[in-house]
Amino acid sequence: MGTIKTALQAVNGHIRATEAACHRPAGSVRLLAVSKTFPAEAVQEAFEAGQRAFGENYVQEGVAKILALADLPIEWHFIGPLQSNKSRLVAEHFDWAHSIDRLKIAERLSAQRPANLSPLQVCIQVNVSGETSKSGCRLNDVPEIAHAIQQLPNIQLRGLMCIPEATNDDTALRRQFRALANCLTELNAHGFGLDTLSMGMSADMPIAIAEGATIVRIGTAIFGKRQPTEPN
Ligand SMILES: *Cc1c(COP(=O)(O)O)cnc(C)c1O
Repeated sequence: MGTIKTALQAVNGHIRATEAACHRPAGSVRLLAVSKTFPAEAVQEAFEAGQRAFGENYVQEGVAKILALADLPIEWHFIGPLQSNKSRLVAEHFDWAHSIDRLKIAERLSAQRPANLSPLQVCIQVNVSGETSKSGCRLNDVPEIAHAIQQLPNIQLRGLMCIPEATNDDTALRRQFRALANCLTELNAHGFGLDTLSMGMSADMPIAIAEGATIVRIGTAIFGKRQPTEPN
């Protein structure tokens, strides 16, 4: 009872303290609560504690929660790997998608976005670690994809997202977050008005905030440990 609320307060406190320690304005980092694998009741509990933005990784699971909680003014973010055959559900139900790693999926989302909804807010996911197993486009490919996305009518490019290497090596993490931040700076120097760096999870949040994160995606620190086998 009350554990999600307590955890949320602790995470928000940690974010505010880290902003201050990094000389960043209070409130410049938004918390995205990653509710994957947890039931709609857990999302509702977090909502009642004041949280408004939630992230989901699996399309059907996310849509089920969106429909179950349709009467709450929640901002829903899709953050998982996105296959073409699932893009319509994302276009129809989510407010944001962080995991755009190729133009084709962006074109589908724009074409499938219902006319009565505001444009889907998107980030390009970049593979900053260079691991072959990781999703995300290459850093070198970001400008071309970003230019093409800007031409699409029903999605709005907001920035970049990354999942760094799973490592305890702070130097490596810092280097990877910095590469994403530099890429955003470079795009904005070429006239893109991008405001979003989606980076930082429960284990590496302070480093991500130090390197300029504007959205941190936090699951475990709010909802607890997930079951080891996740549906997809
Ligand atoms: C699961 C997940 C998170 C949250 O990770 P935690 O370690 O539980 O905070 C963030 N981003 C993405 C893309 C995820 O899949």
